[in-house]
This record gives sequence, C-alpha cells and structure tokens, in this order.
Amino acid sequence: MIWNLGSINVDNFYHLTHLPAPGETIAATRFHQGLGGKGANMSVAAARAAARVAHLGAVGPDGKWAVERLLEYGVDTRHIATVGTATGHANINVDAGGENNIVIFPGANHAISEAMIGAALAEASPGDFLLMQNETCGQAYAAATAKTLGLRFAYAAAPFSAAAVQEVLHYIDLLVLNAVEAAQLVEATGRDITELPIDDVVITLGADGCKWVSNKQGTVERYPAHPVDVVDTTGAGDTFTGYLVAAIDRGLPMDQAIDLGMRAAALMVAREGTADVIPDLKEIQDHDF
Ligand code: ATP
Repeated sequence: MIWNLGSINVDNFYHLTHLPAPGETIAATRFHQGLGGKGANMSVAAARAAARVAHLGAVGPDGKWAVERLLEYGVDTRHIATVGTATGHANINVDAGGENNIVIFPGANHAISEAMIGAALAEASPGDFLLMQNETCGQAYAAATAKTLGLRFAYAAAPFSAAAVQEVLHYIDLLVLNAVEAAQLVEATGRDITELPIDDVVITLGADGCKWVSNKQGTVERYPAHPVDVVDTTGAGDTFTGYLVAAIDRGLPMDQAIDLGMRAAALMVAREGTADVIPDLKEIQDHDF
C-alpha cells in the first residue's frame, strides 16, 4: 500500500492571445479547470496502476470536488483534512504559442498538521510505501515517522529545494528526480549520485528516457523512452513516479516497474491535461508502443 503525503491543487487554465504585460488586463479566450498538484497526480497515477493508495493532505472549504474526484479515481481520501484556508491552486496563463506563466498558491497544502500525518501513518503496515514530493509541509516528520514504522520511503524531489531534500536524505529508499534536479542535488550535496546514502535513484531524462542508479548493487542502467508525438509534457514526470512506485509496491522488479512508468508517461506526453487523463493499465496494455 502507498501512503502519499502530497499536494492537491485546482489548476485554472486561461487561454490568452498573449501573456499579460505588467498593468495589462486581458480577457481569456478559453478557460478550463482540472485537478492538479504533484501529490494528487501521483495518487491518481498509482491508483490507475492498480496500487492501493491513501492520500494524506488538506483542502479548503472550496476543495470538496477535488476530494470527490480523487475518490472517483480509487484513492482512499479518509486522511484528507478540510482546513480553513483555500485549496492550493495554480493559475496557468497559456498564450497562442503555448508559452505559459504560472502563479501557485500553496494554501491548504501548507496547513497539514503532524497530528494528521501521524494518525494516517499509524494505520500503515511495515513494508508499505510513504511517497512524498515537495509541495506540502510536514515532510521531515512524515519521513522520520515512516522509518520508525518500517515503511519504505519514495521521494520525488520536486519542486527542488536543497534544504528540503537534505532534511530527508538519510531516510530515502527510492529517489526520483529529473536531470535538472539531479544536477542541483549534486551541487548542493557536493556528492555524486552514486555516493548518496540512497539504495535506488531514478533520473528521468524527458524524451531520452531515464537512468536507474542502484547504489545497493553498484550498477547504472539506461532506458530509452517510448517514442510518441509530443502534445503536452505536463504531468509526465508525476505519472512516471506514481506508476513506478505502484509497480514496485505490487512486487514488480525494478526493470519492469521502470518500463511501465515510461509507457504511462509516454501516453501522457501524447495527450493534453494532467490528473484527469492519466492512463490506466488497460490503456497501456492495449497501446501499440
Ligand atoms: P514534467 O515536469 O514535464 O512532468 P519531469 O521533468 O518531471 O516532467 P521528464 O524527465 O520530462 O520529467 O519526463 C518523465 C518521463 O516521461 C521520462 O522519463 C520519459 O519516460 C517520459 N517522457 C517525457 N518526455 C517524453 C517524450 N518526449 N517522449 C516519450 N516519453 C517522454
């Protein structure tokens, strides 16, 4: 089972002829809203990958629909609290050429209490996964508690913060990060990825696939991506990580877990949208890669 301490965001997309200049007001030509946040994306991906997943998080009074959406996707939502502050949201301006700028308000994602995390993890069993990204509070507490309880800890170091990673570094069993974040981590720690006290590190490389550094085995493996026509890369990384952790949780060997994650991510790259369009296992099986 996966216990995912993660963000829940409302993604507001505003399609514009051009991005507004300082002081300018413009009307959007199109608007749509969806469920987002790295945490919610990963919970949905893990559930679509047939894992049992409980989401640990918080929304505001305006976030009931987001919780209902997660529930519809098969995520256990009993440990999502409703707090007094607004649900986290991202206002995403997209111009005619696809260029964007984004304002994020963390809101309820930063109002998750240690008591809430502790109560949820008290239900976990040794060998379960704690999964986290870096869009909530309470991470050091959650990581330390998970280790005490004998959980495995998977961490997606995004958005990257050297301080946040270093706080949990010694607890991490599986680290997932993209190439930019990997370079930032090497610079912050002054250590090569192969010298980190982490059994498994997976570095995603966009269209070039990914790399698995097994510090336990002392091996480095490269995996090419499944080629697709790129439509929108948003959510590819989150889908990859959710699928990867779900597959490992279900007992698949690392090679197969990575391949499944890359297939799911490739399908995501070929479509527009985030949590609401993450493929399920059947779609992946039916697709001719
Ligand atoms: P994002 O923030 O855009 O969601 P990321 O930077 O976290 O992504 P990436 O390394 O860009 O992560 O992509 C994650 C995985 O998605 C890759 O390892 C790869 O398997 C898949 N992927 C990404 N881009 C492509 C692509 N153009 N073609 C096929 N697969 C891709």
